Amino acid sequence: MGKYIGSRCRMCRREGAKLFLKGTRCSTHRCAMERRAYAPGFHGKTQRVKLSNYGLQLREKQKVKRIYGLYEKQFRNYFAKAVRNKGVTGEILLQFLERRLDSVLLNLGFCSSRRQARQVVGHGVVHVNGRKVNIASFLVKKDDELALKFKKKGQEAIKNNMELTKDRAIPAWLSLDKNQYKAKVIRLPERGDITFPVNEQLIVELYSR
Ligand code: SF4
Repeated sequence: MGKYIGSRCRMCRREGAKLFLKGTRCSTHRCAMERRAYAPGFHGKTQRVKLSNYGLQLREKQKVKRIYGLYEKQFRNYFAKAVRNKGVTGEILLQFLERRLDSVLLNLGFCSSRRQARQVVGHGVVHVNGRKVNIASFLVKKDDELALKFKKKGQEAIKNNMELTKDRAIPAWLSLDKNQYKAKVIRLPERGDITFPVNEQLIVELYSR
């Protein structure tokens, strides 16, 4: 499947929820969900569709996939990995998604959107346990130490992001040293650490069909 180049706000409107795909803009009055909180398209405003069970499962999967900016194949791979692990499959799936390096940077407030986090990782400024990591899908584990090492220009951009996201709470499974641009993974994320509304069981049911 090719890269999605359409409007990201359209994705939110399709899912009927704010997915926060555009960083700080999402918290302003310019958010499309504030002004047009109905499905996109000509009939979006008037159409009232009662979703079947399958429809509900599909929408939930699409929502999570879009939040994390993944293709279907990538998402399915995470699900397959979650199935192979011990524990509640839906929770393990979310744990994998949260452990991705781009998700971690976003959670720490170094970046305002996942897309931006991927750019930062791609620029090679993130070091995990002293080694440069430029793969956004890299999975952090307990006791990993993260550090951002950049030149002055990059530092300004990260500083600005941190200022913009300063009111965002850092998840309890991460610790952050703002002044040193360092962080540590205290433990793996748990279900309670995921704050956006998601019914992961619907995704499990969808892929178990
Ligand atoms: Fe979604 Fe609003 Fe952000 Fe657009 S601005 S991506 S509609 S949350």
